[in-house]
Amino acid sequence: MILRRSHLAAGHLPLLPIPLLWMILALLLPATTPPMCHGKTVGPSDPLQVQLQPEQGLPEPRAYMPDAQHLDFVYHDHEELTRFLRATSARYPNLTALYSIGKSIQGRDLWVMVVSSSPYEHMVGKPDVKYVGNIHGNEPVGREMLLHLIQYFVTSYNSDQYVKWLLDNTRIHILPTMNPDGYAVSKEGTCDGGQGRYNARGFDLNRNFPDYFKQNNKRGQPETDAVKDWISKIQFVLSGSLHGGALVASYPYDNTPNSRLLKGICRSSALCAMFQTYSAAPSLTPDDDVFKHLSLVYARNHAKMSRGVACKSATPAFENGITNGAAWYPLTGGMQDYNYVWYGCMEITLEISCCKFPPAYELKKYWEDNQLSLIKFLAEAHRGVQGFVFDPAGMPIERASIKIKGRDVGFQTTKYGEFWRILLPGYYKVEVFAEGFAPREVEFVIVEQHPTLLNVTLQPSKYLLAASGATTSASKASPTSTSTQTTTLKRRVNDKLELSTD
Ligand SMILES: [Zn+2]
Repeated sequence: MILRRSHLAAGHLPLLPIPLLWMILALLLPATTPPMCHGKTVGPSDPLQVQLQPEQGLPEPRAYMPDAQHLDFVYHDHEELTRFLRATSARYPNLTALYSIGKSIQGRDLWVMVVSSSPYEHMVGKPDVKYVGNIHGNEPVGREMLLHLIQYFVTSYNSDQYVKWLLDNTRIHILPTMNPDGYAVSKEGTCDGGQGRYNARGFDLNRNFPDYFKQNNKRGQPETDAVKDWISKIQFVLSGSLHGGALVASYPYDNTPNSRLLKGICRSSALCAMFQTYSAAPSLTPDDDVFKHLSLVYARNHAKMSRGVACKSATPAFENGITNGAAWYPLTGGMQDYNYVWYGCMEITLEISCCKFPPAYELKKYWEDNQLSLIKFLAEAHRGVQGFVFDPAGMPIERASIKIKGRDVGFQTTKYGEFWRILLPGYYKVEVFAEGFAPREVEFVIVEQHPTLLNVTLQPSKYLLAASGATTSASKASPTSTSTQTTTLKRRVNDKLELSTD
């Protein structure tokens, strides 16, 4: 049925099921008015006001005209990469911030460039997102694409409305290389094989994270530890990890409870296709609809990926250019499962070149194929629900646990009480828990046109109120009890993110 405004006449409303009714109301309300707003309402001066979906009239991002003087389509070694990032941060101090999350075994910095209109400070209420390149050292197309993405953003901000919207409403953290030591021993023109895939101690970094399904006994590596530390400090909403050796967007889970059969078989091996027949069972997350959607956004905006053509006759073809990770082949200790299960960050794996390390003259073509995908994917952070969890005094509640009902992978609020969850249009319930507060369940609606803003106020639990009363009478003897409790409830937040600008 096509819904027209005439259907919304008073006589029609009672006939509609409640969820559908809420959806219609949500559609008619402007972006700044949450359809169901609990607690503190977002005021007119709140930065959330400008957060519209780009589909509401923004033109498509323009094509990028590279300036070879600053960044050419060639491979950059670590010194050149460092020089480019430093020069860019000096040239665009209002749009970029450069920091290092740690060093590789051989002492190379793991540089992250933030690109945003607020590069040094988190914008309260607005999402942080990331891209990670070159986790496998011999898959460097992503590394170069990310350098060009940085260059594209800083040179387009003042002339491209879409880029301006994205950078005004998102903090984009870009780690071009997670495995600089592996890259240093890789060889241009090598399409297959493992030389340079591993870090300097021979560890595969995309098998080095804690795993949801299996005990991962691999010794933690400095590069992995740096990333784990990074994502524990910043609540990333959305992430892409760039690889090479195939052409597909692959989404969690990468692992499955039944992965032993395929242990040790590599993605590009011809054996892989054969073994797939035995174990191609997908391992789906409760957010499978969202992960499929995110993967399709990348694949469909890519010049070729969604055609799903196999790289070689011996390797699999992927319908629409997407796959569940475990259905392709299961692995233990992958980064995307860790992001999702531990921190609620929706990360997918982007395999963007059939050849792992293609000749440099092909890089321009890879950029043309991936430019739109790289930008449109990040914009998906503005889909779904976002808001704050407050106490009755309007103070943010940090580390409140949040779960979308029926999606049993939870996530937590930031120190500002913020939360985000990418969801497709529909009717949902959210469950919110925090220590010392009564749990709360809130219904809300997601529409296509704009994110749903949802603020949730939690009331102190009865137990706490009772304890508080007891403390008040006892406070004559021990006045600190009450003040400690007040401090806990009204904890103030410090709004600076610590960044090294070296
Ligand atoms: Zn890879």
